[in-house]
Amino acid sequence: MAKLKLPRKRKFGKGSLRCIRCGTHEAIIRKYNLNICRRCFREIALEIGFKKHN
Ligand SMILES: [Zn+2]
Repeated sequence: MAKLKLPRKRKFGKGSLRCIRCGTHEAIIRKYNLNICRRCFREIALEIGFKKHN
């Protein structure tokens, strides 16, 4: 039997996520399946009507 190296399946974790909007790796928000960074979240939050709690 030949030993085959199986590619490791990468789970979604830190570092593997990118902002779908600007592409940054920093401060990605995965809540609500957004996968966007904080900055973009703030921007689209206004668009989608997400209200900020003060
Ligand atoms: Zn972004």
